[in-house]
Amino acid sequence: MFIVTPAGVIATDPISERRPAKPYIDAIQAVTKAPIKYVIYSHSHFDHIAGGKPFKDLGATFVAHKNAKARIAALKPDDVVIPDQVVDAKRNITLGGTTLELNYVGKNHSDNTLVMGLPKEKIIFTVDWIPIQGIQFRDMADTYVPDIEEGLKKVIAMDWETLIPGHPGPGGKQTGTKDNAREQLAYLQELSAAVKSAVNESKSYADAQKDIKLPKYEAWPNYNAFLPMNIERYYDFWNRGI
Ligand SMILES: [Zn+2]
Repeated sequence: MFIVTPAGVIATDPISERRPAKPYIDAIQAVTKAPIKYVIYSHSHFDHIAGGKPFKDLGATFVAHKNAKARIAALKPDDVVIPDQVVDAKRNITLGGTTLELNYVGKNHSDNTLVMGLPKEKIIFTVDWIPIQGIQFRDMADTYVPDIEEGLKKVIAMDWETLIPGHPGPGGKQTGTKDNAREQLAYLQELSAAVKSAVNESKSYADAQKDIKLPKYEAWPNYNAFLPMNIERYYDFWNRGI
């Protein structure tokens, strides 16, 4: 997502890991010649935030959650610009008459994910953890269980109508609704309850993965590939508290 105002542009994730940032910058400059004033990181994962240097060279100020800056500073990944400014619980950025709210709702798909909100437009942009009709990615690496469910409840309680989730859903759909967030919460709650039962019945990882079916979600992309890995993530939570 990028936001165009008369005073300049607020860009988000450079999404230029091992590929050029130029197509993104060209897309912005096709809309406006106003300067790119900010780049806001959605969270610290390199597949979203690498490749920001051309934005830095154009004078953009980089902003991220404070835990994201700490993570980036510790890992020193190649090709990730270290944030200039940080957000803790909340911060508003106002540029050219538009306000972008940066909210932190706790740990979910990372410990540093921002929920960016445009209150006037009732749009939110939050990446990777509220897919549109999607199973969670692979083994839910870096995801905090059950905190992600609490975070979803907080996002559902916020005032918005359109979700930009950072990855398209089935059929290439780029935006979602509050019903998509509710569906994702229901998926995680049903998955969690099913895995809890399997652990209580002393089933092995393999048997839990073989026996648990969530037919309501079997039409979602990657159901067959990722459900067993999602089950393993919740198995560790219920079996070991991790
Ligand atoms: Zn991610």
